Amino acid sequence: MVIDDEPVIREMLVRHLEAQGWRVFEADNGDAGLALVGTHRPSAVLCDLLMPGTNGFNVCRAIRARRDELGAITIIVTTGSSFPADRQNALEAGADHYLVKPVSPKEIAAILSAVPARPCDCPSAVAPPRAACGEADSTRVRFWGVRGSIATPGPDTVRYGGNTTCVEVRVGEEIIVLDAGTGIRLLGEQLRREFAGQPVKVHLLLTHTHWDHIQGLPFFGPIHDRGSSVTVLGYEGARQSLLKTLSSQMDSTFFPVGLDQLAGGLSVRELHELEFRAGRVPVQAIFTHHPGVTLAYRLHTPAGGVVFMPDTEVLPYPRPRPAAATPAQAAPDTEDFNSYKNQLLAEFARGAELFICDAQYTAEEYERRVGWGHSCIDDTVQLALQAQAKHLILFHHDPTHEDAAIDAMVEHARQIVARAGSSLRVDAAAEGLELVLHRKARPSPLSAAPPA
Ligand SMILES: [Zn+2]
Ligand SMILES: [Zn+2]
Repeated sequence: MVIDDEPVIREMLVRHLEAQGWRVFEADNGDAGLALVGTHRPSAVLCDLLMPGTNGFNVCRAIRARRDELGAITIIVTTGSSFPADRQNALEAGADHYLVKPVSPKEIAAILSAVPARPCDCPSAVAPPRAACGEADSTRVRFWGVRGSIATPGPDTVRYGGNTTCVEVRVGEEIIVLDAGTGIRLLGEQLRREFAGQPVKVHLLLTHTHWDHIQGLPFFGPIHDRGSSVTVLGYEGARQSLLKTLSSQMDSTFFPVGLDQLAGGLSVRELHELEFRAGRVPVQAIFTHHPGVTLAYRLHTPAGGVVFMPDTEVLPYPRPRPAAATPAQAAPDTEDFNSYKNQLLAEFARGAELFICDAQYTAEEYERRVGWGHSCIDDTVQLALQAQAKHLILFHHDPTHEDAAIDAMVEHARQIVARAGSSLRVDAAAEGLELVLHRKARPSPLSAAPPA
């Protein structure tokens, strides 16, 4: 049984397994995979981790919970994640083996050679649907928190800001908030002023639940205001549900008011699909390369695509390296895999009017932080160029980067763009920066106000 949402990987695995004489069933998501596992009781399951619906961690748990009925199925996790926490969580969830893509067919064959075959019959497979765009008026994007990892207030970060991730997007009447880092507190104050005692209705999209993306939520005014409604949308984590994670950070050990004691109408909706609506705005999601279950979102607005990809490690693009530095040259299949994964992200961000993307490290810093789950600015720019985005916003600034360091990074990014002969516009996210996207405006669909 092969469960993987990426058709290219699935086909490759199926081809190799069939060549080894296995009867193979395949599914492109965890729920369909579990249903087929129940029907066919396979000898082995090869399972991806980040998939729509039930994620791979929970596929492992579900199979182990039915051990009496399903018997001893060998579970091989095949994943793009080399993060130690993901490996540990997968093995704890019941995986027998953890292989990092690009996986070697020989390695799989060696594991399966020790697995007893069982007889079976019948086929199956599924394909995910595509969603259309919605409508509304103008789109306004305002940055309330732009910092990664931890808040960094102080005299050296006043221009770009020290609050962690929070971006407000207004599509017509809809208020969509992207992540709930410490910046969300100021947004809450602003909404209270704007609505002057009237109820506020907000959709809050969470990319993941690392602290810098949820820590401001308890301080977001509208969740405490009677009549207001805050709908939190996000995905189940590797270890527990979204609701449990959000409740935990408001446990009385950490915060005086529990999630179930709020005066406002806060509801948590765990998503099981990669295409959905936030209010009336169609949204697409994609898993990114970052520890745990982390997503990026694309909002389909009448003024074009707004792509929010705050935490991802864009895999390194080939680039000239200084002769002195001699990092091992990537193996050809690793380079192929990197280019395949980047291609998926580029397709996701294709032609975006606004592409807000992780650019935490300089090339020099990245050499020492490969595998940490954040991007080198050079790769972020290459991704934006490949995606033919219109405007790249460098995001998730490193806590050690003072204003001058971010200025230098913006300059560096613009030089790469100039050398590429592209019209891509590049800026760094700054607290207070507001961008307005106009329906069908050309050639530059954005007008920027200076940071507050
Ligand atoms: Zn982060
Ligand atoms: Zn993170």
